[in-house]
Amino acid sequence: MLKLYNTLSRKIEDFAPLNPPHVGMYSCGPTVYDYTHIGHLRKYVGDDILRRILEVNGYEIKHVMNITDVGHLVSDEDAGEDKMEKGARESGRSVWEVAKFYEDYFWKSVETVNTKRPNVVAKATEHIKEQIKLIHRLEKNGFIYITEHAIYFDISKFSDYIKLSGQKLEEKEAGTRADVFIDKQKKNSQDFALWFFTVGHFKDHTMRWPSPWGEGFPGWHIECSAMSMEYLGDSFDIHTGGIDHIPVHHTNEIAQAEAASGKQFVKYWVHHNFLIVDSEKMSKSKKNFYRAEELQGKGFDPLALRYLFLTTHYRDKLNFTWESLVAAQNALNNLRETIREWEQPKIGCAEFEQKFMNAVNNDLNTPQALAVMWDMVKSNNPSSAKAKSILEMDKVLGLKLDECLGKKIEVPEEVQKLVAHRENARKSGDFKKSDDLRHKIKKLGFEIEDTSTGPRIKKI
Ligand code: AMP
Ligand code: ZN
Repeated sequence: MLKLYNTLSRKIEDFAPLNPPHVGMYSCGPTVYDYTHIGHLRKYVGDDILRRILEVNGYEIKHVMNITDVGHLVSDEDAGEDKMEKGARESGRSVWEVAKFYEDYFWKSVETVNTKRPNVVAKATEHIKEQIKLIHRLEKNGFIYITEHAIYFDISKFSDYIKLSGQKLEEKEAGTRADVFIDKQKKNSQDFALWFFTVGHFKDHTMRWPSPWGEGFPGWHIECSAMSMEYLGDSFDIHTGGIDHIPVHHTNEIAQAEAASGKQFVKYWVHHNFLIVDSEKMSKSKKNFYRAEELQGKGFDPLALRYLFLTTHYRDKLNFTWESLVAAQNALNNLRETIREWEQPKIGCAEFEQKFMNAVNNDLNTPQALAVMWDMVKSNNPSSAKAKSILEMDKVLGLKLDECLGKKIEVPEEVQKLVAHRENARKSGDFKKSDDLRHKIKKLGFEIEDTSTGPRIKKI
C-alpha cells in the first residue's frame, strides 16, 4: 500500500485515488523566461519518481503539466515588470520567441535526467478560453471584483483560504511573486488578480487577448486551476510543486477551483523541498546556478545527478556540492560496471524486490530503496536473478540500467596489451610511461580506472 505525505492534512496518508485504477496528477510546470537549472531538475525528477511509483503499483496515470508562457511580474524592485517582457527586452527577441526558446531548453534539460513526458502538456497561452470560463464561474458565484486595472479574487469571501499552508494571513508575505503592482482600488492586499487589463501599468504589454471584461492577460494562478480542471475534472487525486508554492500559488489555486465548483479540488498535495548549493540558495548573482549542460561539460552524466537526487528524501533539503556529484557518478559507474558482467535476467530476488517496494511505497523513501538495491547487488544471489530484479527496480529509479545490463565490453587485443604494459609501468613506478599509455588507450576509445582488484577498462 502506497503512503504519501499530504501537505493538506500534514500527515502521511494511505493513498486511495478517487477513481481507481485511474490517477489524475497535475504538476506545476516551468515559467519559460529563463534557463532550466538543476534545482528545477530536482523537482521534475521528483514528479517523475512519483509517477513511476504509481505506475509500478498498477495505477493508470494521466499526468498533466502546464507551461507558463504568459509573462508575470518579477518583483517589487523591478517595478512590476513582466518576466517574459523583461527577458525579451534583455535579449532583443519577441516574447513569443523567448517563451519558445526556454520551453525547448526545458524539454532538453529534463530529457537528460530521463523524466517521462507528461501525457498532457498545457500551455497557458493556448488555454485563454478555459481561464476566462473559470473567471466566469467565479463571477457567477460572487467571488470577484473588478477595478480599473484588474479582476481580483476576493479572499474574504472564501472561508478556508489558508487551509493548505496553515499560515495566518498577517504572516503571509503580501503579493509574493505575482500581482505586486500598486492598485489603490484593491480591497485587501492578499487579494490576487485573475485578469490584468492592458491599461495604465500594462498598457504596452505585448501578450493580450480580448475578454468579456476588457482586453488583457491572465493572472498567474488562474491557468493552473483552469487547465487542471479542464483535463482532470473539478476534483482529482494529486497535485505537485515545490514547497515555495504552498503559501501563495497553490493556496490561490485551491481558492479559485473550490469557489467555482463547490467541491474539494485536490485530494493529495505533494511538495518537494529545494536543492541548495554549498548551503546557499541557488541564484544567478551568487554564480552558483548550474544547468545540466554545464555538468555535462565537466564530464558528468546527468543521470549521476538523478542518482544524487535519489539519495535524499524528496521532503528534505538537498545540498548540492561537486563532491556529492562525484560520489554519485562513481556509485553509478560502479553499478553499471558490475551489472555488465551479469547473466541474462531470470526469476528475480523476490525478497529484495519486496523490500524495495516497501521503501518506495513508504512516502517515496528513495534513499532506503537505493540501500536495498545495493544490498541486492552485493548479495550472493545468482546474477541472472539479480538482473531480473534490477530491471524491476529501475522502473522506479529510471537510471537506464537496461543499457548496461549483461553488456560486457569487448576489449580489442591491442588495447588489452596496452593495458598490461601500463600496469607493468605503473607497478615499476614509471608514471610518465604509464600516463603516455593511458593517453594511447584513450585514443582507441577506452578508459582505465585503477581499482583495488586491478585495472578496470571502460568504453568511452
Ligand atoms: P518556476 O519556473 O520558477 O516556476 O519553477 C518551477 C518549479 O521548480 C517550481 O515548482 C519550483 O518550486 C521548482 N524549483 C525552483 N527552484 C528550485 C530549487 N532550487 N530546488 C527545487 N525546486 C525548485
Ligand atoms: Zn501551478
